[in-house]
Amino acid sequence: MSQLNLTPPPLQNDCFALPPGVHWTPVAEAQELLRQRLHTVVGTEDLPMQMALGRVLATPVVAHRSNPPKPNSAVDGYAVKGAEFGAGDHIVSLTEGRSAAGQPFDGAVPTGEALRILTGATMPEGADTVILQEDVSVGEGEIAFRGPLKIGSNARKAGEDFKEGDEILAPGHRIRPADMALMAAAGVQTVKVYTPLRVAVLSTGDELAEAGTAAGPDQIFDANRPMLLSIVAKLGHTAIDLGRVADDRETLRDALDKAAAEADVILTSGGASAGDEDHMSALLNEAGAMALWRLAIKPGRPLALGLWQNTPVFGLPGNPVAAGVCAMIFALPAMGVLAGEGWNAPDGVLMPASFTKSKKAGRREYLRARVKDGQVEAFASEGSGRISGLSWADGLVELPDEAIEITPGDMVRFYSYREFGLEAGKRAQPRSCAMIFAISRKCPRRVQAT
Ligand code: AMP
Ligand code: MG
Repeated sequence: MSQLNLTPPPLQNDCFALPPGVHWTPVAEAQELLRQRLHTVVGTEDLPMQMALGRVLATPVVAHRSNPPKPNSAVDGYAVKGAEFGAGDHIVSLTEGRSAAGQPFDGAVPTGEALRILTGATMPEGADTVILQEDVSVGEGEIAFRGPLKIGSNARKAGEDFKEGDEILAPGHRIRPADMALMAAAGVQTVKVYTPLRVAVLSTGDELAEAGTAAGPDQIFDANRPMLLSIVAKLGHTAIDLGRVADDRETLRDALDKAAAEADVILTSGGASAGDEDHMSALLNEAGAMALWRLAIKPGRPLALGLWQNTPVFGLPGNPVAAGVCAMIFALPAMGVLAGEGWNAPDGVLMPASFTKSKKAGRREYLRARVKDGQVEAFASEGSGRISGLSWADGLVELPDEAIEITPGDMVRFYSYREFGLEAGKRAQPRSCAMIFAISRKCPRRVQAT
């Protein structure tokens, strides 16, 4: 394993540039552009295996020893040489002693004899087969059993699980509890992992009030930031809460400077169109490395993508549904690439629709959806400000770019929140947005997903 902890080079200044003359970029094309132009931006570090849960492997993990390291018994029983006992009944002398797990028999089993052996114990020399104790009658210093024996039965071969030197986990893999067992069994001590992707999240808009506080009559609560911070943390990245920014260009400029200094990627919401108060897109434009992606997607356009001091910025739309959809369809898999995991967009599943809908050609649509009785139902209203639909849903249903009429029974592709990695957790944890806020107010605005 290389001991060098390298930080990859910055992204190219034109990584978000779109081909000239293109007006409405199809979703698949936009995704492909992101996939190709982005690369891992985080550095690496060596960690004790025990500390690596939830982290992304930067190099392959190789087994330091075989599993099992030596042949051993899969059951409690009697170890013999299988070929010595053909069909018929056998009465066989027991060799003095036994082989137990961690306490191997010190010697060889003589020809024609059997040795008491327990589960997990090393197979003694002179034996290759274990007779299950339930298949044996035990007498004074001898056992009786019926042949023939299947040679090698009830015995595990050395390395049958994996062999020393095998690659057991590939780079880009995010370590799960099951992988901890595998690495432990393989004698792995240290792993090289990527440093967590630091994702700054900020909201823009004069109308926004902080969730959980009092709001003026003309204000609305900032709903995007709790959602985006939660998405980031749920995916295992480090969320950096940069709060709300007023519709003021200089304030936003300062906020982006701070975000670029602290984070590897910036997610903003609001102000991404070309209106008077759309300072996000104006600033990215001014920075030069900006592409206002006019995406053929509903809900969701426009998405402002750019680099701010070499840090990629996803300028998501302000409407919460559009912000959520664009985060899931574009930012989520892109963050996977930046974090070293690769493009991790879900495949979705084809299921029959239970709704009726007609759509025009030329853009892809995502409806808030859930599965009921084996069918996909869609949220009644398509309004991009209807936050209730986001929460009512268990995922998104994708309607293809071309024109279609969907009637009940037609097959549609459903992407569950679970498949995006955004299902509910089993316990209260720092990933939940309430905790993120509680923590972020008190101490450095940084929340490590654990
Ligand atoms: P904008 O993209 O800034 O023009 O915002 C579009 C719509 O989304 C407006 O109705 C905003 O009030 C609303 N909006 C923007 N940001 C947020 C937010 N963080 N939470 C809830 N609604 C928002
Ligand atoms: Mg706004």
